[in-house]
Amino acid sequence: MTDVTTQDLVAALRAFRDRVVEARAELTELDSVIGDADHGANMARGMTAAVEKLEAEPPATVADLGKAVGMALVSSVGGASGPLYGTLFLRIGATGGAAESLDATALGAALRAGYDGIAARGKAEPGDKTMLDAIGPAVDAWEATAADGPARASAAARDAAAEGRDATIPLVARKGRASYLGERSAGHMDPGAASSAMLFDALAEALGGAS
Ligand code: ADP
Ligand code: MG
Repeated sequence: MTDVTTQDLVAALRAFRDRVVEARAELTELDSVIGDADHGANMARGMTAAVEKLEAEPPATVADLGKAVGMALVSSVGGASGPLYGTLFLRIGATGGAAESLDATALGAALRAGYDGIAARGKAEPGDKTMLDAIGPAVDAWEATAADGPARASAAARDAAAEGRDATIPLVARKGRASYLGERSAGHMDPGAASSAMLFDALAEALGGAS
């Protein structure tokens, strides 16, 4: 079983940046149906800024990495997703702390803290049709498989995030802009759940969990 280094996490964030840049139109299309058509632009701009920061000043610790990514997202993204994803990474950094690498269990604890941070900040619950509906099942799956190491845990988390993303389709939104549509939000995938599934897909690729 190998530990996950900050370099591994930087590789995952680069892969996430690549995915949201490539899927920019797709994410914007999802947000145009139940939101304001900016989720693709928000994620592409935010992750481009975050990776630029990581490349300009490679992080020594998980705390450095979390702070750099979180601050870049908060300061470059105007939409709700900026502070929410920002909170995820700030919490991951605060939990990982001065460590230069984390085992799968410790990374699971950092991801759990990130999930809790988003839930506290956005006051959303599971089933509200938000990014939490992809991140929550992913963190649950990660924790359940952490003893098998990061490759296995990241693969389980990726699969659970994709299922959670798809499960947002029939839900009625209770948080964020989509909630303004009420019942009319049902039948459409939540854009933030779609980008969150890309995050776990990128993590699995970087940690050897890609199938
Ligand atoms: P905005 O809604 O400000 O235009 P984005 O379009 O970038 O921001 O992001 C929208 C996504 O943010 C939604 O699809 C949803 O997943 C997520 N989101 C919105 N509000 C909340 C909240 N209160 N808690 C969790 N996630 C939320
Ligand atoms: Mg939007």
